Amino acid sequence: MNKSNPFLKTELRYFLHTFKRQPLLLTKARGTYVWDHRGRRYLDFFSGISVCSVGHAHPNVVAAIQRQSNALLHVSNYFYTQPQMELAAALTKRIPGSRVFLSNSGAEANEMAIKLARLWASKNKKAGREIVVFSNAFHGRTIATLTATDGSTAMKKIFGPLPSGFRRAPYNDIAALKKIIGKRTIAVLVEPVQGEGGIHIATRGFMKTLSDLSRRHRFLIIVDEIQSGLGRSGRFLACDWFGVKPDIVTLAKGLAGGLPLGATLAAPAVSKHIAPGMHGSTFGGNPVACAAALEVLKMLTPNALRHIHRQGQYLSQRLSAFQRFPSVKSTRGMGLLQAVELNAEGAPYVERAREKGLLINCTRENVLRFLPPYFMTRKEMNRALDILESVFEDLN
Ligand SMILES: *Cc1c(COP(=O)(O)O)cnc(C)c1O
Repeated sequence: MNKSNPFLKTELRYFLHTFKRQPLLLTKARGTYVWDHRGRRYLDFFSGISVCSVGHAHPNVVAAIQRQSNALLHVSNYFYTQPQMELAAALTKRIPGSRVFLSNSGAEANEMAIKLARLWASKNKKAGREIVVFSNAFHGRTIATLTATDGSTAMKKIFGPLPSGFRRAPYNDIAALKKIIGKRTIAVLVEPVQGEGGIHIATRGFMKTLSDLSRRHRFLIIVDEIQSGLGRSGRFLACDWFGVKPDIVTLAKGLAGGLPLGATLAAPAVSKHIAPGMHGSTFGGNPVACAAALEVLKMLTPNALRHIHRQGQYLSQRLSAFQRFPSVKSTRGMGLLQAVELNAEGAPYVERAREKGLLINCTRENVLRFLPPYFMTRKEMNRALDILESVFEDLN
């Protein structure tokens, strides 16, 4: 038996070994806390990768799930259901004029965005089919979204042949962006804040250039807000901070408060071309997930967004004091999407924090990522930061 991970043996026996999991068996979660099978409680600064953003098992979300699961679980998209209709109305109200397609995950939401861009290009008789993507981008793990994701060439070699039609430019490099865009460009797919890629924030100049170029060259701006959207940045969409008007927006992760749900929202110039038969999904827009999502959207009021912004400022301010530790290279973030980049391996920090009762995540080997739930108290925030500070004191 592996002493440091008693669950690994079972995992290797039954699962395709795709995940590097922490050695915890979790049994319960409420608000900002999760419990393991021994009854030990942890503060959660990860929220299931920003899925439980309104807190674990939010009572409104749980009640909606109970209500809807008593009424009906699934009927397929050959019929209408009330939660789907209401959610579509609520989502498109946030992005006026848009139309929505509901799916089950981020990768699916991005797949639809890619298809919509190609549909738009075909209807507009565009000369090429190029979608510009960026360094450090993460868009999912299906074959097309893996192609859009920046990753090791080794991985792409293994899983190739990959679809053509993607070109990569360095993130936040205005000159490179101007150079790569041309008459073959049909869309630019961009994360306003790169989450998996290590919490890199777009610069205002970069996003403005993107906007200006899209008017001149007529291509679509697709924003992947799967991690940065739904309030996490302190605005409904992170691109709202940049004054960018996207043609397509993708959402997932926090949308249904813990259930799987993806959404692709398209502006009229794009949505007008879609017709029955071009896309679909068996489970997409599951009524229980939609009922949960309605409750999440109801919570994302202007007041809530202001609260997230203030919490984010406080978190960022306390994290910037960590720069006194020799292992800290930089601290950065936006709203409640914050990070500490180390000039050392992040794994020991994650482990030590867990031992002290705090769950955090490490991306890109050396970037500690913090995605706390939106409505934690200042006291909980301080407790988490005190734990984190003591972890840094231990390891520096
Ligand atoms: C998580 C994520 C995805 C993929 O979402 P899945 O639900 O895992 O398919 C895509 N883009 C971004 C920015 C993400 O953070």
